[in-house]
Amino acid sequence: MLDVRNLTVSYESTPVLKNLSIYIGRGEIIALTGPSGSGKTTLLRCIAGLEATDSGSIWMHGEEITKRPAHLRRIGLVFQDNQLFPHLNVAENIAYSLKLQRVAKNERNHKVAEALELVGLAHLAKREIVRLSGGEAKRVAVARALVAQPEVLLLDEPLAGLDGELHHRLLDDLGSLLRSRATTTLHVTHDHAEASAIADRVLDIRELASLGDV
Ligand code: ADP
Ligand code: MG
Repeated sequence: MLDVRNLTVSYESTPVLKNLSIYIGRGEIIALTGPSGSGKTTLLRCIAGLEATDSGSIWMHGEEITKRPAHLRRIGLVFQDNQLFPHLNVAENIAYSLKLQRVAKNERNHKVAEALELVGLAHLAKREIVRLSGGEAKRVAVARALVAQPEVLLLDEPLAGLDGELHHRLLDDLGSLLRSRATTTLHVTHDHAEASAIADRVLDIRELASLGDV
C-alpha cells in the first residue's frame, strides 16, 4: 500500500533520514517510535509531500508519488499542534480541503457533517477554534484529516500533551475509528504504551534507517 524506499533527507546538508525504508499494508496501523530529533516528523512531512527528499522514492498502490504535489496524494496528516485555522470555525476548518478540491457545497456540507459525527463533535460545528478544549481541538484535527477520505492517515504525536483520562479516552476512540474504517495509518508517538495499545506493529525509526556514523 504505502512503500517508502531508501529515503534520504537532509536539512542544509545534514542528513536527518538516511536510507530509510518502511512498508505499510492496506488497513494496517503502524506506530512509529523514536527519540526526539530522530526524524519522525520529517518522515511524515515527506510522505505527505510537504518536504523535499534528496533520494529514494515513495510509492502508493505501486505508483510512485515522490514528486506528486501534496494535495494530489490522498494522504491525511494530523500535526502535533493541530494547526487548525484560527479564523475559521470548526465546520469551516474541516471543509477547507474539500473547498480546495472544489467539492460542491451540498456534498461538502454532507461530508463535514459526517466527519463531525465520526469524532463526536456534531454539536460544535459553529464553534470558534479558540473556544475548543484540547481534546475537542484534537478531534477537529482528526476530522479535518479524514474528511477527504485519504488512503493513508499520518498522525504526528496526536495525543502528546493530553492528560491521563483524556489521553486514554481519545486513544480508545481513535483506535475504534481507525479499525472500523480500516484506515491505513502511520501513528508517531514516543509513548510505548500508546504505541502498543493502538498499533498492529510498533517500529522504531532507528531500525528503519542506516544512519551510519551520524
Ligand atoms: P522528531 O519528530 O523525531 O522529533 P524531526 O523530524 O522534527 O524529529 O527533526 C529531525 C532533525 O531535523 C532534528 O535534528 C531537527 O532539529 C532537524 N530539523 C527538523 N526540521 C528542520 C528544518 N526545517 N530545518 C533544519 N533542521 C530541521
Ligand atoms: Mg516530531
